[in-house]
Amino acid sequence: MSSAKLIVVSAPSGCGKGTILAKAFENRDAYFSISCTTRKIRKGEEDGKNYFFISRDEFGRMIKENEFLEYAQYNNNYYGTPKIPVLEKLARGTDVILEIETKGAFKVKQAFPEAVLLFILPPHITDLLRRLQKRGTESNEVILERFSHAKKEIKQAYHYDYVIMNDELDKAVEDFLTVVDSVRTQDGRADEFSTKNDEIVKMIEGVLINA
Ligand code: 5GP
Repeated sequence: MSSAKLIVVSAPSGCGKGTILAKAFENRDAYFSISCTTRKIRKGEEDGKNYFFISRDEFGRMIKENEFLEYAQYNNNYYGTPKIPVLEKLARGTDVILEIETKGAFKVKQAFPEAVLLFILPPHITDLLRRLQKRGTESNEVILERFSHAKKEIKQAYHYDYVIMNDELDKAVEDFLTVVDSVRTQDGRADEFSTKNDEIVKMIEGVLINA
């Protein structure tokens, strides 16, 4: 791999991950991987922009042909990262961002130990439910499923390299960029957000206490 970074970002759905990433990379060059999914397209989404919305058959074919860097099942749908674009961008020196769930993130870390795994925490777990309901794009049943999944995902945050909290958007963007820049320069500023830091472990525990 060149000096380009493979940055894997996970967050429970409804946590504001998309907004943080969009803001953080407003004026920076990075490639946001576009995943394939078998889930239905939501209102406001575009095929080829948010995801490649494909059939289960096509997804199965891509698995067989070894076209995914990783894939996982989430809420009865499949999600996968197409391998070739990611490898090409890294080889050309462009940082790559993967916004994927936890199982996929750990698979990436196994294959690319130099990948940086970053988890975004919501300040309060009950906020998530509210945000999911406000989004209004899914049925109550799906929302509750996502909420229960979110709690399980937060428990995985301990195994990430870095954790930041989305309490206040500008601060979350700043913290995110501190980690991204510091892993490159190795100036130690990212240590504040490392899961090796007791304060970060306590922060995760604090969010889970009401779960
Ligand atoms: P959503 O349906 O809300 O767009 O995404 C559901 C979950 O799947 C999110 O946690 C999202 O980050 C994750 N996801 C999206 N693309 C991929 C992928 O390519 N691989 C994996 N493992 N997870 C993904």
